[in-house]
Amino acid sequence: MTFDDFNFDDSLLEGLYSMGYKKPTPIQEQAIPVILKNKDLIACAQTGTGKTAAYLLPIIHHILKAPTRHLNTLIIAPTRELILQIDQQIDGMGYFCSVGSIAIYGGNDGMTWEKQKHALREGVDIVCATPGRLIALLQNGDINFEHLQHLVLDEADRMLDMGFFDDIKSIINYLPKKRQTILFSATMPPKIRMLANQIANEPEQINIAISKPAAGIVQQVYIVYDSQKESLVKLILKNKDFQSVIIFSSTKDNVKLLERTLRQVDGSVKAFHSDLEQVEREEIMRDFKAKKIRVLIGTDILSRGIDVDGISLVINYNAPPDPEDYIHRIGRTARAEKAGVAITLVNERDQIKLSKIEDLMGFEVARMPIPSDLGPGPEYNPAANKKEFSNFKSNKKSSNYFSKSKPKHK
Ligand code: AMP
Repeated sequence: MTFDDFNFDDSLLEGLYSMGYKKPTPIQEQAIPVILKNKDLIACAQTGTGKTAAYLLPIIHHILKAPTRHLNTLIIAPTRELILQIDQQIDGMGYFCSVGSIAIYGGNDGMTWEKQKHALREGVDIVCATPGRLIALLQNGDINFEHLQHLVLDEADRMLDMGFFDDIKSIINYLPKKRQTILFSATMPPKIRMLANQIANEPEQINIAISKPAAGIVQQVYIVYDSQKESLVKLILKNKDFQSVIIFSSTKDNVKLLERTLRQVDGSVKAFHSDLEQVEREEIMRDFKAKKIRVLIGTDILSRGIDVDGISLVINYNAPPDPEDYIHRIGRTARAEKAGVAITLVNERDQIKLSKIEDLMGFEVARMPIPSDLGPGPEYNPAANKKEFSNFKSNKKSSNYFSKSKPKHK
């Protein structure tokens, strides 16, 4: 199948070919015809599958075929980074046609706020917004969805995780009942199905390779003690073949600590976390995309929707709590069929998380030998470690815990 098969408007085809898209991805092959037919859609697809273009292309096509002076499409997504990326994709695809969009998210100054309100009054085709900011606009009467035709909820599961369920339901009360509703989610927990049933009308359903990481990712695991992690990461970063690296760590305090440590080996290391101002976050993201920053360290805020091409390595400094988050994190590399490496550092406590990740994926990730300078790592025995750590939780005074889990090489 090629993009020509969809009979898109010529100016739209020109835009997507100029972005380097040669053929549709599987989610695009399945979702585009449904959206072109104006049917409601619930699609289970992760970032990295080409899901954004899967809904943007048919919607832009609809807009070009029947231009109006009214706000036509509302796209709601969880984070400002994702909103900005969606807006950039609209700019790219719509480069040769006249489709106007606006990105609305929190954390802006008063000037930007005024500009957004002005643009809304003048009329745009597509509004991309985070739920919180959108509610404020709706409550002030600054935005009118009377003529809305398409509603897209992108990364719906993440929005619910972030506590936006009620906001989304109240936003929907402001929208016309007759509209096309499109919901994209990386996972389909019961709460998402319930939401989908409430807001969509006889939706078609598409499931794209749920919980399977992209085929081009080389996955590796090091079973290590916490005390070995820093030195190991420094060694890994010495390999200059890894030109663009993301490191995920569990909390923003750990991210900041790791930034200070890794600066010793690479001056361009940057931390990305929610304490930074929006402008700083945008600048870091720009520099990372432009390859001025080689190593970016962040929490899971980085794992969803960050669309940077050519990331050669993802390091999980710790195993993520939720196996689905692992898929999202490593999905930052090997995007759109390119190759990439994902390395996960697993201490004794995280071994049980690794076994859940492997259960979800249905295969075992390659275990890498620890460089001899760092001494031997712990045994891999998730069941025994699980027992030990849950005992530790219930009896923190247990002296056994410390003696047993001390690094053997020390
Ligand atoms: P997404 O899943 O929407 O986050 O998209 C992942 C990446 O794939 C983005 O960088 C897109 O620009 C890119 N992409 C989307 N569709 C295609 C396509 N058909 N061919 C090549 N790259 C694509």
